[in-house]
Amino acid sequence: MPFITYRFSDGISLVQEARVANFMRCNIWLVRGRDRDLVIDTGMGLESLKDWISGETDRPLTAVTTHAHFDHIAGLHEFDERLGHRSEAGIYAAPTQAATVYTGAWKQITIVDPTVHPTFDPMTFAVTPAPLTGYLDEGDVLDLGDRAFQILHLPGHSPGSIGLLDRDAQVLFSGDALYDGELLDNLYHSDPLVYRETLRRIATLDAEIVHAGHFPSFGRRRVNELVMSYLGGRNTITDVVEWYEKCCRGNQDIFSEQDWSGASMA
Ligand SMILES: [Zn+2]
Ligand SMILES: [Zn+2]
Repeated sequence: MPFITYRFSDGISLVQEARVANFMRCNIWLVRGRDRDLVIDTGMGLESLKDWISGETDRPLTAVTTHAHFDHIAGLHEFDERLGHRSEAGIYAAPTQAATVYTGAWKQITIVDPTVHPTFDPMTFAVTPAPLTGYLDEGDVLDLGDRAFQILHLPGHSPGSIGLLDRDAQVLFSGDALYDGELLDNLYHSDPLVYRETLRRIATLDAEIVHAGHFPSFGRRRVNELVMSYLGGRNTITDVVEWYEKCCRGNQDIFSEQDWSGASMA
C-alpha cells in the first residue's frame, strides 16, 4: 500500500506515505468537516495522494500547505484548491530543488526506500509546480461548517509557516513550527530570532493537542518541554549528515511504521 491511514476518533485521520524514512516522513492530516474536508500537507508525491484520499471521503477537499518544503508539498499539485501563506507563493509556483530545501545534505541522505519506489531518483527528484489558489494569513478563519480553524502565522522555520488552531477543540496543527523532534532553524530562509518568538507564542496557545508536521502528536506538557529546550539552545539539527547517522543507529528498518501508541490524540 502506498499510504497508511490512522483514523482517530474526532474526525481527524493521519495519512503517511509508506516506506519513507520514519524520521523524515511528513504527517498528512485529513480533517473532516460538515461542508468540506481539509487536507493539511501532502507529502513527497510518491504516489497519488488524491486517489488515496478519494477512498476516504466524498466531500469537497481543500488542500492547506503549512510551508513550502519538499517533504510537505509534492502532492499539492493534485488538488484544485491550494491554500498557503503568500510569502512562500513563489516557491509553490516555481519549486526548484534549492527553494524547497531539497539540496546539499538533504539530497545525499536516503529518504525513500528504493526497493519499494524504484522510480524515485534522489538526484532528479523535484516538486511539481502547484501555484496557490488562495492565501491564508494570521487571523483568517477556515470554516468547515461544524468546526473552524483560525490561521496563525508561525514564521522562523520558514517565513511562510502557518498553523491551524481549532479553539473549541483546543487542537493545533503546527506544521514544522513545532514537532516532537529536533527543530530546524538554519535553512536558507529560516530566521532563528523570529523562530524564538513563534515558539514562545505557541507555548501560550490554548491547545491541548498538537498535530505536527512530523512524528506523533503530543500535549501541552511536551509543548513546554520542547519550547524550553529550544530556547535553552538545544534540540536543533545543526549537521544533517550527523543527525541522519544518529537516526539510523539502532534503527533496524528506517522505513518502518512509526509507533503512535503513546501519542496524545484525545
Ligand atoms: Zn520544513
Ligand atoms: Zn518537514
